[in-house]
Amino acid sequence: MDMSDLQAIKQHLIDPEICIRCNTCEAICPVAAITHDTRNYVVDADKCNLCMDCISPCPTGSIDNWRNMPRVGAYSVEEQLTWDELPPELTVEQLAELGVAADTPPVEAPVPQSAAGVPDSFNSAQYGATLPPWSAAHAYTNLYGPKAAEKTITATVAGNVRVTAVGHEYDTHHVVLDFGSLPLPVLEGQSIGIIPRGVDASGRPHHARQYSVASPRNGERPGYNNLSLTIKRVLQDHQGNAVRGVGSNYMCDLQVGDKVQVIGPFGASFLMPNQPRSHIVMICTGTGSAPMRAMTEWRRRLRQSGKFEGGKLMLFFGARTKEELPYFGPLQNLPKDFIDINFAFSRTPEQPKRYVQDLMRERAADLADLLADSNTYFYVCGLKSMEEGVVLALRDVAQQAGLSWETMGAALKAEGRLHLETY
Ligand SMILES: Cc1cc2nc3c(=O)[nH]c(=O)nc-3n(C[C@H](O)[C@H](O)[C@H](O)COP(=O)(O)OP(=O)(O)OC[C@H]3O[C@@H](n4cnc5c(N)ncnc54)[C@H](O)[C@@H]3O)c2cc1C
Ligand code: SF4
Ligand code: SF4
Repeated sequence: MDMSDLQAIKQHLIDPEICIRCNTCEAICPVAAITHDTRNYVVDADKCNLCMDCISPCPTGSIDNWRNMPRVGAYSVEEQLTWDELPPELTVEQLAELGVAADTPPVEAPVPQSAAGVPDSFNSAQYGATLPPWSAAHAYTNLYGPKAAEKTITATVAGNVRVTAVGHEYDTHHVVLDFGSLPLPVLEGQSIGIIPRGVDASGRPHHARQYSVASPRNGERPGYNNLSLTIKRVLQDHQGNAVRGVGSNYMCDLQVGDKVQVIGPFGASFLMPNQPRSHIVMICTGTGSAPMRAMTEWRRRLRQSGKFEGGKLMLFFGARTKEELPYFGPLQNLPKDFIDINFAFSRTPEQPKRYVQDLMRERAADLADLLADSNTYFYVCGLKSMEEGVVLALRDVAQQAGLSWETMGAALKAEGRLHLETY
C-alpha cells in the first residue's frame, strides 16, 4: 500500500431516498462522473473532481452529500447502485481501522492546473448560495414525484403562445398550465418537472425535464390555480448536431386542453427576498428569463397595489438577436423607474458581439454599490456557458471598487445573495 492509499477523500454521494431520477446531474457533469441504472443515480469517486457543477441544478438537493472515506475504501459505483439509503458517516474508530487518522483532513480533488501552475478555470459554482435570502417565503418542495405519496399531478394546458419572433431559429413558447382544484403552491424561482408522453429508446417512461416557473406566486392569472413556463424548442444539441429534444418539443407542441403530468415543485434557494427595499439584480440568457419574469411580475403587482416600498430591479438580458429574446415586447413597456433593463445581443448584423458580462462591466459603478449593499441579491440563470463570465465580471467589479472578492464572494454565498441556475 502506498501513502496515497491511506489518504482520506471527501466522497460525493447521491441520496437514493430523495433523488427523483431526473437525469439533470448526469447531463450536466463535465467529466461524466455520474451514471445510473434503473434503480439509482451514483457518482464515480475516481472521476468526480468536486467541481460542484451538479449541485445547484439538482432539484431535490439529493446530490449534495459527502462522506469522509479512505481513498482505497471509497464506495464503488456497483455498491452504490444497490443502495436504498445512504450509509452513515464512518466513525473516527472505523476510519482509524481503515488506516485514516482522526486528524487527517480529507483531500479535495485538485483543481486542474495550467502549465504556468495557475488554476485552469475559475470555479464560479463555489460562490453560488445553497441558502435562500433570509426574507424569502417558505417554499414547498417535492409535493409530487417518485418519492411522494402522489407520484404526479395532472395539469391542463390553458395557453401556448410563441414568444420569440416567427421565422427565426429560436422557437420559444410561453405555456400556461392550470391545476384546477389540486394544490401546487410555487414561488418565483422554483421549477417543476414535466414527464413527456411516451417512452425512451429502452422502452422506459421518459425522465422528467425541469422548467422554471415564469409566473409569480399568485399565478399567471391571479385568482386561478395556474402557472406559466418559458420553453425553448431544442432542435440542436450542445455540439450543434440536429436533434429533436424530447421534452421541449413535447411542450412546445401542446394544444390548449391537453393534459400534462407534472412533478415538483423544486428548488428551495433560488428564491426572491421579500423585505422592503431589497434590490434584485437579474442576469440571464434565453429561457433563463423565466424566473426573472416571475420576480419582476411579482414586484410589479406589489407596486401596482401600493404594497411595495422600493428597492431596485436591474436586469441584464442576453440573446443572439433581439428577435430571439423572449418577452422582448412586454419588457420594453415596463416603466424605467421600475426596472433598469440592459440588453446584450451577440449576433446583431454589423454590430460588435456583446454579452451580459460586457454590459455588467459597463455598469460597474452601479453594480459595485449594489454589491456592497447587503440588501442586494443576485440571480444568474440561463446557458451554462455564461456562468463563469458573469461571476468573473462580478469579481472584477468588486475588486475595481476596492472590495475584497474573497470576503465578498464568501458573504454572497453565506447570506444567500448570489444564486446560480444554469443548464
Ligand atoms: C433547473 C433547471 C431549469 C430549467 N429551466 C428551463 C426553462 O425554464 N426553459 C427551458 O426551455 N429549459 C429549461 N431547462 C432545460 C430543460 O430541463 C431541458 O433540459 C431542455 O428543455 C431540453 O430537454 P429536451 O427533452 O428537449 O432535450 P433532450 O431530449 O433531453 O436532449 C436532446 C439533446 O439536446 C441536448 N440539450 C439538452 N438541453 C439543451 C439545451 N437547452 N440546448 C441545447 N442542447 C440541449 C442534450 O444534451 C441532448 O443531446 C432547465 C433545466 C434545469 C436543470
Ligand atoms: S461535483 Fe462535478 S465532477 Fe463531481 S459529480 Fe458533480 S458535476 Fe460531476
Ligand atoms: S439531479 Fe438530483 S434528483 Fe436529479 S437525478 Fe441527479 S441527484 Fe437525482
